[in-house]
Amino acid sequence: MSGPVIEVNIELIEDNARAVTALCDKYDIRVTGVTKVTCGMPRVARALIAGGVTGIGESRLENIHRLRAGGITQPMMLLRIPPLSDVEEIVRTADITLNSEISVIRRLNQEAETLGVVHEIILMVDLGDLREGFWPEDLLPAVREILEMEAIRIRGLGTNLTCYGGVIPDEENLGRLVDYAHRIEDTFDFRIEIISGGNSSSLPLVAAGKMPKEVNNLRIGEAILLGRETIQRRPWPGTSQKAFVLNAELTEKKKKPSVPIGTAGQDAFGGTPVFQDRGLITRGILNIGREDVYVDGLTPHNERISILGASSGYLLLDLSRDENAYQVGDRVDFFPNYAALVAAMTSAYVEKRVILPESRKSEDEKSVILVGSLFEQDKYARELDRWVKRLGYTSTRLPETTPAREIADHIRPRSIPVLGGRDFTSLGLQAAAVAMKQFGLLWVDSVVTVSELHTLLGSRNDPVAEALDTGNIVFLGVREIEVDAISLIRTYNIRVYTMEDISLLPLRELMRQSLTRTATGTEGIYLKFGARVADNGNDGLTNREAHLIMEMTAASGALRILEMDDEIDPDVESPYIRTSRAACDNMPRFLLSALGKRILGNGT
Ligand SMILES: *Cc1c(COP(=O)(O)O)cnc(C)c1O
Repeated sequence: MSGPVIEVNIELIEDNARAVTALCDKYDIRVTGVTKVTCGMPRVARALIAGGVTGIGESRLENIHRLRAGGITQPMMLLRIPPLSDVEEIVRTADITLNSEISVIRRLNQEAETLGVVHEIILMVDLGDLREGFWPEDLLPAVREILEMEAIRIRGLGTNLTCYGGVIPDEENLGRLVDYAHRIEDTFDFRIEIISGGNSSSLPLVAAGKMPKEVNNLRIGEAILLGRETIQRRPWPGTSQKAFVLNAELTEKKKKPSVPIGTAGQDAFGGTPVFQDRGLITRGILNIGREDVYVDGLTPHNERISILGASSGYLLLDLSRDENAYQVGDRVDFFPNYAALVAAMTSAYVEKRVILPESRKSEDEKSVILVGSLFEQDKYARELDRWVKRLGYTSTRLPETTPAREIADHIRPRSIPVLGGRDFTSLGLQAAAVAMKQFGLLWVDSVVTVSELHTLLGSRNDPVAEALDTGNIVFLGVREIEVDAISLIRTYNIRVYTMEDISLLPLRELMRQSLTRTATGTEGIYLKFGARVADNGNDGLTNREAHLIMEMTAASGALRILEMDDEIDPDVESPYIRTSRAACDNMPRFLLSALGKRILGNGT
């Protein structure tokens, strides 16, 4: 560590989120947590979600990709008005977008139709801040046209204030937003479900109990992340202002004059500096500068020191009032404001370091428990062990006679039992039911039979049936279902994504829905993966698709137990669907993807 570092305190962010969502909850307002100032850091998004936000708002597609790759499955709202040139990727990437241009909405509709999806939008209304938004008189004609579009669904109305024009949200302007929503509902006879009443600057109105009651969503970034409302930048009650700390190293400390010597010209940035003569002062130089951060947005943690100025690579300090506090080599802490934080998070020169609460540090010790004869004979077994270690896991082998209770002991957030070698479904499900009050099942295999369904659905008082709600079961990659199984699936309303679905829709989207469904309201996911499903794209998944399923499951952080059925033709339920040797040979690599192996290594 030598360069500047920005420390991100996850626990404070989570607490701040909780303070803001608790207030909003009282008024039935859902909070979309905005991560754009952190460039879409998955850990930050996870802290916001743990703190009660119901979705994530982002301004850039790159950040949404980063969040998705980091396992965030919550709905993603694109906050920045979509540019025409990006509509295809936007439809693929964002769940809901804010919009103000009818021509862009037309194109979103075309793209969504092509992809076979419905794209949701919130129409932005300009209430006078003069940034994005329909001018009110254009709203009704726009809605009329959009309602004709097959692949666009209007979810709500929104507005953005205090961003450009500095207009403060009040009962009058947000009341107008509500009026527009009512007028649309009356004219067109459909419900405006979401009325999104702005950003952090709307919180004071909520706290005063004056937010119009129809407003049911806010998009909040700064008040949670930096703990300030944004009208006067006062600390927000119940939040910390210290979630982000920027620090850099002292590289020079000397007593020098307070005024430069010689004829004054321009500084490095073309400004003409002015100096106040205070005689000799103790000056410090830090290895951070305008290239890394917005210097005017920094407040020293130590109130006795002050910032004199900066060039592109240096920050100059007056240490006179606390001369002995720092020596060369020490690090000096600052609290960044919003502008300084954006710059620091965006700068490639500033290291981003996540500070986890003590209680969660042990989570970084990871283990995999291999149960059964899985991969024992594999010619790549040594290679597998090497990789498992490189991914930061310790590995242990347990015999296939290990009872469910003992396997259950190993089901913990960073400890994953992997069962394989024969059919382990019944044992695995029992272990999952012991370890988790509720779990989800993601079943990736080619065939669904009646007897398998009975194992899952169980009978009354069966612990598996109690812990596994049919709403948390997803079958993925299926290409053959026994006729009687079809009616069971219908009766229990179990979600099945067939190979047909995979041909028609982006697998990423199907996986996202699968993970949401299996993880919602559960303590974690049981993933069953049958080797025959990955026949390298003949009738089943391509190898790459199999990897993506594993990668996304790993990234979700919700995987608790993995069953890898690599038996060659256990029983021939369907003479057409066989497990090939080649598929089995790929299983160790699929396992590594499920443990979090990424092609380009693993970032935060
Ligand atoms: C950035 C942004 C927000 C969040 O603003 P904060 O002041 O950080 O709460 C909300 N809505 C839109 C459209 C934004 O661009």
